[in-house]
Amino acid sequence: MTDLVNKYAKEYYEQDSPTVSDIEYDRLFKELLALEAQYPLFKRPDSPTLRVGGSTEKRFSQHKHKTKLYSLDNTYSYDDLKLWYERLQKNFALDKEPELVCELKIDGLAISLNYENSHFLLGATRGDGVVGENITNNLKTIKAIPYSIPSMVQSLEVRGEVYMPNDVFESLNEEQKKNNAKVFANPRNAAAGSLRQLDPEITRSRNLSMFAYYGRIDSDEIKITSHSQMLEFLKSQGFNINPNYKVCKNVDDAIEYCKYWDVQRKSLGYATDGVVVKVNDFYLQSEMGFTARAPRWATAYKFPPEEISTIVEDIVVNVGRSGAVTPVAVLQPVYVSGSTVQRATLHNFDEIKRLNINIGDRVLIKKAAEIIPKVICVTEHNSDKVSAFSAPEFCPSCNTRLVPVEGEVNLYCPNTYGCPEQIKARIEYWASKDCMDIDGIGGNIVSQLVDKGLVTTPADLYKLSTDDFLKLDLIAEKSAQTLYSVIQKSKNVTLARFINSLGIRHVGKEMSELLAKRFLTFDGLKNAAYNDILSIDGIGSKIADSVLDFFSNSYNNNILDELKNLGVIPEVVDNSNMSQLLQGLTFVITGTLTNTRDYYSDLIKNNGGKVSGSVSKKTSYVLAGDNPGSKFDKAIALGVKIINEDDLNQMIGVKNE
Ligand code: NAD
Repeated sequence: MTDLVNKYAKEYYEQDSPTVSDIEYDRLFKELLALEAQYPLFKRPDSPTLRVGGSTEKRFSQHKHKTKLYSLDNTYSYDDLKLWYERLQKNFALDKEPELVCELKIDGLAISLNYENSHFLLGATRGDGVVGENITNNLKTIKAIPYSIPSMVQSLEVRGEVYMPNDVFESLNEEQKKNNAKVFANPRNAAAGSLRQLDPEITRSRNLSMFAYYGRIDSDEIKITSHSQMLEFLKSQGFNINPNYKVCKNVDDAIEYCKYWDVQRKSLGYATDGVVVKVNDFYLQSEMGFTARAPRWATAYKFPPEEISTIVEDIVVNVGRSGAVTPVAVLQPVYVSGSTVQRATLHNFDEIKRLNINIGDRVLIKKAAEIIPKVICVTEHNSDKVSAFSAPEFCPSCNTRLVPVEGEVNLYCPNTYGCPEQIKARIEYWASKDCMDIDGIGGNIVSQLVDKGLVTTPADLYKLSTDDFLKLDLIAEKSAQTLYSVIQKSKNVTLARFINSLGIRHVGKEMSELLAKRFLTFDGLKNAAYNDILSIDGIGSKIADSVLDFFSNSYNNNILDELKNLGVIPEVVDNSNMSQLLQGLTFVITGTLTNTRDYYSDLIKNNGGKVSGSVSKKTSYVLAGDNPGSKFDKAIALGVKIINEDDLNQMIGVKNE
């Protein structure tokens, strides 16, 4: 265990290229601490729990710090933060709640700057906390570090975090890619790599910056008694202080700060990985002192990770509604970005080879676009020999031989109309929220309906009686009636949703809306000529081909005839309320509004506007409700105008109540 944690620490601190996530490292570190407490005889002198950070490199001269630079204890839970605060009050017999200062924890590299007689003399990395690397010449290239300060002080030590702004990081990586050079995994590694260069000109070209968060001063005139006073003093001397720090009256206040910044940090132009919570009063700080690694008077609350590692328990094969057969990793459940994840897509069988992934491996996963989890890489291969996972030859659902499709990486089950998994996936899609929106008809009900032979096409849903639902497990009279009526009610559907429900290849929600807007009736679309479809802005030949293919298939036409007889096809489109008042304008919707997002989306589109999922400089307006998400912050950062529901109503001439 000691060797493993030392290996990860070396990769992180000295090579600037970690192979495991921070939460994984912190978990192992805590496990080691617990083992050492239980078996002190086995605690090794080279244990990472006894030191701070990494060691120094020979290519820089060494600098012995005047006083030690410490690490910080950390936690990922608010309960632990409360315990830390309560422990301080108890252990130091405090009769009132100590004031705290909360600061963003900047994800960069710790440095120490030494000023003598008000001039910058020497700067060094933290190193092992006692000895760091002298990188004065490199630090002199950073504009945020003043050469001299206005106050006359004999000696001042300032500590802070050197970081690389996100936009600089992105363009550096672009440049590295172009030059076939090393691409940095995150801004922290890029900052560390850029600062520890032998040629200061390379450091200069990397546009690094710095936030100062600590000062120690030798002066008879200047009396500073708290951390917040010190921050203000440093600011007055020309240092960059993070403007978002806050003096909090107690731990509850500090937790509110952490919650706020967990959301808002995404709009900052630099990386933060948590909040540092410090006791404000210097006298109390000195009473509380330090452990071997960290101050007792401060701790770091780390934001929940967006990447985390877990074990692949199995690799299963999923058959989609188009017949595409895709591998899925079944994972040991882990909590990531706000929910527990148990499955992650592996996309296709080439991806399995590319990742060199197998059952039992430890992998790093991330939520792609914040929703579907994705495996990023294998961090540790399973040492027990399991036979390598290989792509199946036959469909796991209907046993038909799988076929490749030219130009595509996926394998397909060609048994389109007979494969039970494909039928289930199509019906589930039909009933889903963006399609016919049949509440209550989900995976379990669909699976039973298909397995019992009650349904093979979407049209069959509309032929079901209440009694049919009573044949399903755990469905009683009342639920059966509800299911029957929600299905019948779904007949009242817009043309766009109906088109989306058909599952035409490459035609999703947006394309369905374009087609509905252009053809206005279902027959209009069904009889459309190739060039009519192609003339729609945003639709290309792939989609036009796919639409024509769909309507030339007799199986599809039989179902459409049945749907028509059952009264499911929308006959007329009410376009009387369409205006062009929002033509040329693009909107992004965020937060909780008084009506559904779909309602506002339709309202904007019916008035000629466009709705987009993400904010960019091209966005005209962000329509924001209560508790808006990161889109709100991005709009502020890009200077995009934010409006509320009343503003939108005014724009389209609707009177507000
Ligand atoms: P740390 O980064 O968790 O916390 C201490 C550091 O926070 C300070 O040295 C300082 O540089 C920085 N900091 C940023 N903003 C600050 C502020 N406002 N006030 C005070 N300090 C601030 O501790 P560390 O010792 O540098 O590193 C330990 C952490 O690094 C681990 O908890 C782990 O998350 C990560 N780590 C990861 C790996 C890996 O392989 N992924 C390996 C080693 C360490």
